[in-house]
Amino acid sequence: MGLMTGQQFKDSLNDGRVIYYKGERIDNVATHPAFVNCVNTMALDFEMGHDPKYKDLAVVFDEELGEEISRYFAIPKNGEDLLKMQELIIKSTELGDGYIPFSHDIGADVINAIIITANIMGDQDYIDRINNYNKYLKKTDKAVVAAVTDVKGDRMLRPGDPGQAHPDYYVRIVEKNEQGIIVRGAKAHISGAAYANEFFVIPCRAMSESDADYAVAFAIQANAKGIKQIVRPFVQGRSANDFPNERPHRMITDSLIIFDDVFVPWERVFLCGEWKYAATMVYNFALLHRRTGCAYRIPLSEQFLGMATAIAEYNGVENAPHVKDKITEVVIYLETLKALCNAACFDYKMIAGIAVPNPVITNIAKYHFAHQYHEIVRIVQDLAGGLLVTRPSYLDYCVPELQEEIIKYCGGKAGIPTETRLRMFDLIRRMTHSELETIALHGEGSQESQRMTIYAEAKKTMRYCKNIVDVMAGIKKQD
Ligand SMILES: Cc1cc2nc3c(=O)[nH]c(=O)nc-3n(C[C@H](O)[C@H](O)[C@H](O)COP(=O)(O)OP(=O)(O)OC[C@H]3O[C@@H](n4cnc5c(N)ncnc54)[C@H](O)[C@@H]3O)c2cc1C
Repeated sequence: MGLMTGQQFKDSLNDGRVIYYKGERIDNVATHPAFVNCVNTMALDFEMGHDPKYKDLAVVFDEELGEEISRYFAIPKNGEDLLKMQELIIKSTELGDGYIPFSHDIGADVINAIIITANIMGDQDYIDRINNYNKYLKKTDKAVVAAVTDVKGDRMLRPGDPGQAHPDYYVRIVEKNEQGIIVRGAKAHISGAAYANEFFVIPCRAMSESDADYAVAFAIQANAKGIKQIVRPFVQGRSANDFPNERPHRMITDSLIIFDDVFVPWERVFLCGEWKYAATMVYNFALLHRRTGCAYRIPLSEQFLGMATAIAEYNGVENAPHVKDKITEVVIYLETLKALCNAACFDYKMIAGIAVPNPVITNIAKYHFAHQYHEIVRIVQDLAGGLLVTRPSYLDYCVPELQEEIIKYCGGKAGIPTETRLRMFDLIRRMTHSELETIALHGEGSQESQRMTIYAEAKKTMRYCKNIVDVMAGIKKQD
């Protein structure tokens, strides 16, 4: 089949999948008005593959298959490959006005995590299965997302703990037979799932022996029998109060996916009770996906610097010392993120033949982005001023007897049209009064998970540094 076009991707979604949205069963996500912007956002990846401007970045030639495939499905072999992938993530997110299309990137992070896990296990059967599945994705160019986060129930209890209110808070194997396995449970917050072709399902935590039934990983079609999605509306929308904007509106929704005794054939099962390796799989997925997450936050951070610079100028305060200070803060935020992302790729390490970004730097990058995010939002809102929430709406602006007064009294710096200033307020409202803060905090895992990884990965550095001071203090001799 080869690389899908945007239209082929959209057509592929009319497959009988079960989707509920705002109390309604959706017949075809590709054509339903609530999902059109989301589907168009996801289609960006496919369009890039056919656009001469982006093709070199989005597509690579696969020697084994003798055909062009998405760059995402090619295994990264060195730092250069990681940087190229980062460039692709950044470019597609720029086209998505801050939204990564999500059709291949997160799936690729899972593929690589499964390959690493299968190789560490030394299990040839699993190695063959994931390689075959990867080949299938390369050939069919399916949009595949990652269902990792279980609904979890009581967070302090293990999946199989009898204290949990029921045994299905984590996706689990309820039956094994000659053809495959049957699974039950639910995964929460799954981005882009409503309009993906397939999902990867992998554990979200380390497991113990008593959790063996929960140590399960597989790939499944979105329309498989027993799968139901409940999609939460994403509220970062444009509104009728805003000035009309011809630029396409981009967005991605998230789903609660329910697996009600879903059959998965063996060739799509990548972990089945090997509880010791659940941690390996989720650890490597988190590492790879945090790198992806940091890369797509670069365009978002550029938007914040742009909004801070623009509104300071439109308000006429760009030369005030405290304003320069605040804008400098946003520059530091952006440039630190960029530098950490690049450094993580340059300082890559090889695991099972796959180049993975430096774990400590990647986790610091994600932590930096999430930890400072609210501060950056605060700066932009501070520089905007109160009209951000109290200005007359575009609907009032359209009333002939009001327009002149709105232009007169809502102006800022002389020479800047009032409409320019009001449009920037619309954008800042959309970007800072939204759910993005929660996404920044929890997307790719909570901050605590990054801190835990940084600490665990930095142990060697800690020992090295302790040795330095032991020598300096005369406790030890120089090696
Ligand atoms: C917009 C959005 C998109 C997302 N997209 C995806 C996706 O595509 N795929 C996917 O798989 N996931 C996705 N996620 C899920 C994301 O990875 C999780 O939100 C994140 O891992 C936190 O899990 P949680 O939401 O269940 O919060 P919780 O785990 O309940 O965390 C809440 C708080 O409790 C703390 N906590 C939790 N457990 C413990 C414990 N045992 N001991 C001590 N403290 C604890 C945490 O540190 C945190 O402070 C998305 C999330 C968001 C918000």
